[in-house]
Amino acid sequence: MAARADLDAVRAVANAFIASISAELREISLQIHAHPEEGFSEVFAHRLITEYLARKPQVQVAPSKDKALVTAFVATYDHSASRAGANHGQDAVTTIGFCSEYDALPMGHACGHNLIAISGIGAFLTAAHLAEIFDLPVRLKLFGTPGEEGQGGKINMINAGDFADVDFAMMLHPGNIDLAHPTYLAAQHLDVEYFGKEAHAAASPWDGINALDAVVTAFNAIAHLRQQILPTDRIHGVITHGGAAPNIIPAYTRAEIMVRSERQDHLQENLFPRVLACLESGVAATGCTMKTGTTPAYADVVTNVPMTDVYAHELLVQIGVDVGDPHEQRSVSRGSTDMGNVCYVVPSIHNVFDTGCKAEIHSEEFLAHAKTQEAHDKTLQRVACLVMVAYSLMTDADLRSRARAEFAKVPKPKTK
Ligand SMILES: [Zn+2]
Repeated sequence: MAARADLDAVRAVANAFIASISAELREISLQIHAHPEEGFSEVFAHRLITEYLARKPQVQVAPSKDKALVTAFVATYDHSASRAGANHGQDAVTTIGFCSEYDALPMGHACGHNLIAISGIGAFLTAAHLAEIFDLPVRLKLFGTPGEEGQGGKINMINAGDFADVDFAMMLHPGNIDLAHPTYLAAQHLDVEYFGKEAHAAASPWDGINALDAVVTAFNAIAHLRQQILPTDRIHGVITHGGAAPNIIPAYTRAEIMVRSERQDHLQENLFPRVLACLESGVAATGCTMKTGTTPAYADVVTNVPMTDVYAHELLVQIGVDVGDPHEQRSVSRGSTDMGNVCYVVPSIHNVFDTGCKAEIHSEEFLAHAKTQEAHDKTLQRVACLVMVAYSLMTDADLRSRARAEFAKVPKPKTK
């Protein structure tokens, strides 16, 4: 095995390459920001990105194996045949995956997925450039993962087998802080409908079955449950249909609820059944019937520590950012992401970075900031750090085995 190239030399090559594609990435980012599309309808962004990638030498662009997922893609750069250089202790060629997201919120790109899009593209193309320059036998993939804001595109892609031949996966998410150990909760979306019977609310209320009382009972039961749950658990919801008129006993009500927990096994085995029991209390109290529905659950993000340690080290070395104590970083919950599901099938990191915005994501301030030059520049600085994680995985057998050993401790997913 030949020695790894001097890391400073690798960083210099990576940063020079990133600078060379910065203007192209800026254009893609601005266009996506100006054409916000919600989950699974990201037609403009999908075409923009795939056409750009298809123009790059040796990059193959294919659809997802899930044919229904028309705004997903899988781009591949295959340097596995080039074994002229050292194979860096690989038994089989290492495959590294990056993720790009490009769906918007109803309010636009207030989650900065235009920046996620270019961070994935930038990391993928730069890692490919390093593989070329340093002659590394490696396979790189960029996953275009639609519908992160609730639809769970990555879950469909996992189920279809898109991630089956990937050894390690990584992505970045913009924010107002740098985190190498972010906490993203497992989340289950739930909708509930109660069916009762209409009646005149003054003349003959005894003839009715009150669906509003059912949903109110359920929400009260959830409020009681909240006192006995873990500090990291979350239950929150809205009543979307509460009845038609005050003089009619409501025959139909509907609510949407989200249940979140630090770990997906606790969510599925403990918290979710207890919330269901609360919903059933509405049935017992009123005599309504009930129908519930769920969408695929988001798993919590399980950060691969050996991988994220490389990222944190690069933040310090390259841009002087010290992310600090891992426990402190984990104390702030960031919401939920379908990258959590990827963490359960392959060693992964999903790191948050500071775009220079004072406000949190999903705000008008962040929406405006996501298209600034400052946010762009800070995104590419973090891309240079993420690429060094990929380079280290390509060239460091010890890192690969430590990352795999840590992943082996992650419980296997029980959800579909
Ligand atoms: Zn997001």
